[in-house]
Amino acid sequence: MITKVIAQDKIDKVEKYIDKGRRFVILTHVSPDGDAIGSSLALYHYLMACDKVVTVIIPNEMPSFLTWLKGAKDILNYEKYPDYAAQLISEAEVIFCLDFNVPKRIGNVASHLVAASGRKVLIDHHLNPDPDFKVSISYPGISSTSELVFRLICRMGNFEMISKSCAEAIYTGMMTDTGGFTYNSNNPEIYFIISELIKKGIDKDWIYARVFNTYSEKRIRLMGYVLYKKLKVYSDYGAALIVLSDEELKRFDYKKGDTEGFVNLPMSIDGVVFSTLIREMKGLVKLSFRSVGDFPCNSFASAHFGGGGHKNASGGEFYGTLEEAVALFEKVLPDYVPALQEELKKRNRRA
Ligand code: 5GP
Ligand code: MN
Repeated sequence: MITKVIAQDKIDKVEKYIDKGRRFVILTHVSPDGDAIGSSLALYHYLMACDKVVTVIIPNEMPSFLTWLKGAKDILNYEKYPDYAAQLISEAEVIFCLDFNVPKRIGNVASHLVAASGRKVLIDHHLNPDPDFKVSISYPGISSTSELVFRLICRMGNFEMISKSCAEAIYTGMMTDTGGFTYNSNNPEIYFIISELIKKGIDKDWIYARVFNTYSEKRIRLMGYVLYKKLKVYSDYGAALIVLSDEELKRFDYKKGDTEGFVNLPMSIDGVVFSTLIREMKGLVKLSFRSVGDFPCNSFASAHFGGGGHKNASGGEFYGTLEEAVALFEKVLPDYVPALQEELKKRNRRA
């Protein structure tokens, strides 16, 4: 048995919405990751098993390491079919919003969500959720939205309705949002849930390989280039930085998802407690942050790069040149030296 994390009144309301509704839409955040796609497809499979009409809508393309998931080919990309997606959102009786806390995180889909009259249900684990949801299943203490979907289905008394495809999607989200259970993964209930998913027939080792071991040769060479040529370590600060320009990404035939995980690489250096990846993208500069312990990289993201996320994994954006983004990063980093050194001291004490 696992703890009843989700409040009973929220479970009751969602159960009622599912009973009464026929047309459902599931939305998730821009540049969807394993938890965004995993939680959305898990809920999709569940609602399909309940004989509902369901569409998962993503704001832009998903990475290819997730396309093997059952149901992935039925996902609607708003960028490709904006009018059809807008129509489905406006006609849905219930709109599930998964793995994001505020409409801004779904990019151009946001205006359609705000204008929609359907009941809006949030299922998420980011801090500071928007208050405008009819039901808000927001639990930042839980390490993935996919885990919350598992908990929700079970609390509605429907563990039996979780199919193997649904279980695979849940496991994928739980695994990717914890870096293969290497961070945010000390809650013993995670492993109880995994054991339940294995009973559904999932092959967890195969899923790991399918997600983490299917990159292109070019991506591995880009990683080699990053580590050899592009990694800057600020040893006194316990910080590291990787900067990638559009030209460099093109040189390595960049495909969506290729830089996934790069920000984690410097965290394997003894004495690095804060890592940043800055990369040039279409029309903006994207930043990813990782930290360990109590250094809140989401505060860094929100204070300087209009972003947010979790304490130890966050991101943000910068509208300007790559050089300006790096200059801003290096200008503000010294302000965080006391907090970084505090974290370094804690690490040394534990060693
Ligand atoms: P990643 O570095 O893997 O792209 O993102 C890590 C986490 O940071 C995501 O799960 C999400 O919570 C958060 N995040 C990434 N980019 C942004 C952003 O632009 N704005 C906000 N608010 N959060 C972000
Ligand atoms: Mn997530």
